[in-house]
Amino acid sequence: MRMITAILDILFPPRCAFCGRLMECTGNGVCPDCEEKLPYIEGDKCVRFVGDFRCAVALYYEDMVKDGVHSLKFGRKSNRAAVFGRYIAEVAAEQFAGEFDEVTYVPVSWKRNFTRGFDQARLLARAAAGVWGMREVSSLKKVRHTRAQSSLNDAVKRKENVKGVYRVPRPERVRGRRFLLVDDVATTGSTLAAGASALMEAGAASVVCATLAGGHRHIENSVTGQTMDRSDG
Ligand SMILES: [Zn+2]
Repeated sequence: MRMITAILDILFPPRCAFCGRLMECTGNGVCPDCEEKLPYIEGDKCVRFVGDFRCAVALYYEDMVKDGVHSLKFGRKSNRAAVFGRYIAEVAAEQFAGEFDEVTYVPVSWKRNFTRGFDQARLLARAAAGVWGMREVSSLKKVRHTRAQSSLNDAVKRKENVKGVYRVPRPERVRGRRFLLVDDVATTGSTLAAGASALMEAGAASVVCATLAGGHRHIENSVTGQTMDRSDG
């Protein structure tokens, strides 16, 4: 271990990015318990459709993943974002290698950014892009404040809630480019779909999406095109 890491570990004991438990050393930022129990999404199920766009999802949004995403908004953000960004980079590289040349993110509104002080999707995009020696680009803008998607249960309501809320302020930077669009969680996928549509309308060549986590329900199987409900197992 590098000396500086060893000193930092003593001064700021590392915590697991998912469960928040103290760890003996920084390692990969995940405690052995979580590493083993993380609800990885396997095989074809990693890729779902959000609107017309493919989205690679690393983990099921449950248990310690929920805790981790929640803590990203508090706690030691940069440490968590670095760990989560790695998972996003991994699943995106596995599914969409060679399909994008820019990494961007679904932004929060200026109001939420102002009150929270940071944009978690941007931190994740930065961490994922960093894995490939790239830098995230800001291409979308949220033009009005919306109700939190998590407060709406209904897929139709979620879709309505985010309709037309994303704009591309500088289309010349988007035109002809192929994007990887990053967000923390995809549940119904309507937020990502709205962001991806805005990029395409501004002239992007293509958009694929990637998130750290996604739900069990309404998974559209990438191979069969059938919607499956995994809640029964
Ligand atoms: Zn843990």
